[in-house]
Amino acid sequence: MMLKIKSFTFNPFQENTFILYDETKSGVLIDPGCADLAERRELEEFVLDEGIQLTQLLNTHCHVDHVLGNAWAKRRYGLPLSIHQNEIPVLKSVEVYAPQYGFASYESTEADHFLVENQTLAIGKENIEVLFVPGHAPGHVVFYHKESKQCICGDTLFRGSIGRTDLPGGDHHLLLQKIREVLFALPDETILYPGHGPATTVGFEKQNNPFVGKNSIY
Ligand SMILES: [Zn+2]
Repeated sequence: MMLKIKSFTFNPFQENTFILYDETKSGVLIDPGCADLAERRELEEFVLDEGIQLTQLLNTHCHVDHVLGNAWAKRRYGLPLSIHQNEIPVLKSVEVYAPQYGFASYESTEADHFLVENQTLAIGKENIEVLFVPGHAPGHVVFYHKESKQCICGDTLFRGSIGRTDLPGGDHHLLLQKIREVLFALPDETILYPGHGPATTVGFEKQNNPFVGKNSIY
């Protein structure tokens, strides 16, 4: 019952990319934001040095900063891409707006499988659960490893903040509701690894988060 989590911070949006792997060196790649050669090389070197066998590519959601390395990772490691079905239009739209964000060389790709709420995914001998937390994006999921109480929470919640909801498919009330219903139902000591910025815990955010914490007015 050991799940290791490696994080990288990539692209001008300072997006956190994750590799989850276990003692058998089986791993999954989550939200590859690696946008250029140097960032991709950094990821490749880690995979090589650790001897990790990547088996799956997962997206918490499909905003541009989380999918910049999707096509590359699929090709480089032969990985199938899994996203929630509600993210299909979100992923599709990236090719339209990526150039406006300065990512002229963005290469689009499609999902191979669809993630379902409460589904279990295997990483070697470990299992992670797919939890559905829409609001920042319509098909946003988070990945929870129960045994080690660790959760890759994407852009649902950040240390002291929450994801923006002004992008297409965003829903502020739904996000607040799902954070409380799903993320805050996890044990207080659960470590949350957001898509941007440092890790936090469920307990810390329940106490201190100005949007969803105990003293929030929302
Ligand atoms: Zn996002």
